[in-house]
Amino acid sequence: MNQFKYSLDNKRYHTYNYYLKNKYHQKVAKVALNADFTCPNRDGSKGYGGCIFCSSSGSGDYAGNVHDHLEKQFQTISQIMKRKWPECAYIAYFQANTNTYGPLDKIKNMIQPFLEKEDIKGIALATRPDCLNEEIVCYLSEVNQTKDVYIELGLQTIHDETSKLINRGHTYQEFLDGLSLCRQYNLEVCVHIINGLPFETKEMMIETAKTLGQLDIQALKIHMLFVVKNTKLQQMYENHEFEMLTRQEYIDIVVEQLRYINPEIVLERLTGDGKIDDLIAPMWSIKKVTILNDIDKQMKERDIYQGDLYKKTVQ
Ligand code: SF4
Repeated sequence: MNQFKYSLDNKRYHTYNYYLKNKYHQKVAKVALNADFTCPNRDGSKGYGGCIFCSSSGSGDYAGNVHDHLEKQFQTISQIMKRKWPECAYIAYFQANTNTYGPLDKIKNMIQPFLEKEDIKGIALATRPDCLNEEIVCYLSEVNQTKDVYIELGLQTIHDETSKLINRGHTYQEFLDGLSLCRQYNLEVCVHIINGLPFETKEMMIETAKTLGQLDIQALKIHMLFVVKNTKLQQMYENHEFEMLTRQEYIDIVVEQLRYINPEIVLERLTGDGKIDDLIAPMWSIKKVTILNDIDKQMKERDIYQGDLYKKTVQ
């Protein structure tokens, strides 16, 4: 029998489905939007070209059409969802690029129209730790009184040498500072990491999860590295400059990472969602469900759970 309390479907890790059902008692879906921001490592303030793996859409491949007004984007996507789940409520998810990289007025104008909608339960903002300041976070904490605010914080790795290589333009210390600011204002934080970044060893990836698993974060998204068209990573891949993870290696690493993560932390994702038309590698990533099934299978066979090796050492 499954002993893990944070799952409704026999998983051995804290599922996002469990979190949402427990909190909202109804189906809640994220509507991904594109508010036409950029990133400091794209526009020259910290670098050019963005992260070496990032698509031209700024990791917003499934977000609404940037040429449409935000409310139209929301209508278009939510109507499709409504056909599938008629009683569905939503989280407006500003996904593409860095959604706090700009003047406060732009951020307010982006969020304001969504605060009055009854069927919107929360506002999620994808951003970077170096693009948060007290003024923005204070405003978001006000929004948090009306709608739940979720900060989706890109980190990818705790290892600064890798961050440099992938052109992140911020350090792990800056991540810790951004996280601490969000938590001072009581904002929930979901951290994004990637397994398989160039030249990272299995031990480095596990160290990333182990370290984050100790922190005051509320959720984690684990992705595999995608090589997509028209990126610097594509050139590196075609020049055979680094090794990609195999499917089995990815599964083994994720299972090991989960063991070190505090069971209170929600695992929002254990695979990625690359846009198939632009995907160059790994092609095994397309079959997401089978990857998730094999993670479950290995955890069951080895009788292990999220956090079974977690020991709190950081206060
Ligand atoms: S910070 Fe995010 S959106 Fe911006 S370039 Fe990097 S991965 Fe892409």
